[in-house]
Amino acid sequence: MSLPGVKCKVSSCKYWKSGEQCDASAIEVNVDGGGSNARQSEQTNCHTFESKNS
Ligand code: SF4
Repeated sequence: MSLPGVKCKVSSCKYWKSGEQCDASAIEVNVDGGGSNARQSEQTNCHTFESKNS
């Protein structure tokens, strides 16, 4: 079952499902470079990501 309300374009992630869906049970999103103070969406990313090829 995919995570409701999560839209993801990272098709190289092993949790990714067609239709821009995420199949993980939960996700963790962090600020690039650490801390908790992002200023733009580009400074955040999903740390639940795992490469399909690893
Ligand atoms: S775990 Fe993160 S990167 Fe992977 S499909 Fe879900 S939202 Fe996307």
